[in-house]
Amino acid sequence: MKRAIFPGSFDPITLGHVDIVNRALPLFDEIIIAIGINSDKKYMFSLEERKHFIEKYYQNQPKIKVTTYHGLTTEYCKEIDVDFILRGLRNPADFEFEKAIAQTNRKLAQIETVFLLTSADTAFISSSIVRDVYRHGGDISGLVPPSVLEK
Ligand code: ADP
Repeated sequence: MKRAIFPGSFDPITLGHVDIVNRALPLFDEIIIAIGINSDKKYMFSLEERKHFIEKYYQNQPKIKVTTYHGLTTEYCKEIDVDFILRGLRNPADFEFEKAIAQTNRKLAQIETVFLLTSADTAFISSSIVRDVYRHGGDISGLVPPSVLEK
């Protein structure tokens, strides 16, 4: 069974994340959307909220699981016996950043990272832009899935 983990902060999940996950669904038997917990980071949405947004949106998609984890992504992959990490690429900055992490992860744990290029119509979306728009009372309806809007 081919299983992949899609790790991230998902603060909150956006249509960019959804695009990557939906397009990866035919490639894997199971995708685990894993929210990494970093105690040094300040989040806008609580862990429960971030998890709820994802679970609600994918409630009818049996190939998707949602979990949370602490520490190294590669350690978590070993713990749950997953061989692939899924990541999205938006631009050259993402590529440079992700390249070093993927090469480190392969050296540390022989885990392959599978990259999908973002679709043109979601390439500009990031959780930080969503948070800025939300913080200033703007309309985020074209940027996030409906489960986030319900909040
Ligand atoms: P992290 O804190 O690990 O960057 P994010 O939640 O911001 O977590 O992102 C998780 C993954 O989703 C990363 O691989 C990121 O590149 C990807 N991603 C985020 N936004 C988009 C988007 N608009 N299109 C494609 N991939 C995206």
